[in-house]
Amino acid sequence: MSATHWTRIQKFLGITADGVPGNQTAQAVASRLGIDAATPAAIPSSAIIDPRSEANIATLAPSAQAKAREWLAKCRAEGINVKVICGLRSYDEQAGLYAQGRTKPGPKVTNAMPGYSWHNFGVAWDFVVFDANGRPQWESPLMERCGMIGEELGLEWGGRWKSPQDTPHLQLKTGITLAEARRRRKNGEQIA
Ligand SMILES: [Zn+2]
Repeated sequence: MSATHWTRIQKFLGITADGVPGNQTAQAVASRLGIDAATPAAIPSSAIIDPRSEANIATLAPSAQAKAREWLAKCRAEGINVKVICGLRSYDEQAGLYAQGRTKPGPKVTNAMPGYSWHNFGVAWDFVVFDANGRPQWESPLMERCGMIGEELGLEWGGRWKSPQDTPHLQLKTGITLAEARRRRKNGEQIA
């Protein structure tokens, strides 16, 4: 399109006719078409991560963070109100959990000593589905759906495990053993 043509188009639109199409020309065309160009494209609600999930995702290794965000967005795109409720767990926190039901009161909650859970390496996270009133729904069939969405993204889902089954758990497939992860951590190397 020549400058002469653009000048005619700009005159037609009633804007400064300099023959150089730019943002102003584009906006004038958009306005003619009934498009409000000044309104930024709406961010889909599935792309917005709730603060609780975000805080937990932020504790993960960078590669796990990316996967967790992708997974959460996919779940939310299906209308599932799911949140990430646990991410990285320090060795100390793991020791505290392991003691529960053994040397401390309460039911046993884990069979993993410090360094024996993928949570200790920032590549695993736990989730739970919430109902409309904000109550966690541990037994909801949507828990399984969330796990399967994780599998579709190449994640390992604890719902497939046998002893114990761990439906709320997802983790990266690191391709390494926990022993190797512990060695890397000791040497200050990257885990995943
Ligand atoms: Zn877990």
